Amino acid sequence: MESPLSSLFARALGLESPWYVDRVEFDDEASRLDLHLDFMVGGTFACGVCGRPECKAYDTTIRHWRHLHFFEHEVFLHAPAPRTRCPSCGIRRAALPWARSRSRFTVPFEALIVGLADRMSLREASRALGEHDTRLGRIVRLHAETANAAVNVDEVAPLLDRFGPASGSSLL
Ligand SMILES: [Zn+2]
Repeated sequence: MESPLSSLFARALGLESPWYVDRVEFDDEASRLDLHLDFMVGGTFACGVCGRPECKAYDTTIRHWRHLHFFEHEVFLHAPAPRTRCPSCGIRRAALPWARSRSRFTVPFEALIVGLADRMSLREASRALGEHDTRLGRIVRLHAETANAAVNVDEVAPLLDRFGPASGSSLL
């Protein structure tokens, strides 16, 4: 049974069945919020390679993703990421609604990276986000190459205004 706080964060993340927020941990001293996700027993997933829906989980690995800040708190997602047994592709990572395969950032966080890099140098973005600039550069190049439709800089523009060089604010 989800607590009201868990279901609030599940809605904020746009999670859909079988995913839910199992546990929420606030650490005020560390300014950190950890959201532990899980999925319902018997839940099915889309194959991460061909997108075929309703594949059963074969096994899982706990993975971690950095997400957008929640006020001054750094936010991290943790979840048992499934591999599925896809009839066409074999055993492959399942598609996750919040992140690209192999990324350690959520899709909204990658959109923030791309948007920041559009407005400031990678070094400045690196300082603002507390992430290494080569890591940020990889994300920016990847999205430039694939023109990923999931990332729309206009949609995150209101977020970026908080972090522009003129705003004098910082994510840290
Ligand atoms: Zn497949």
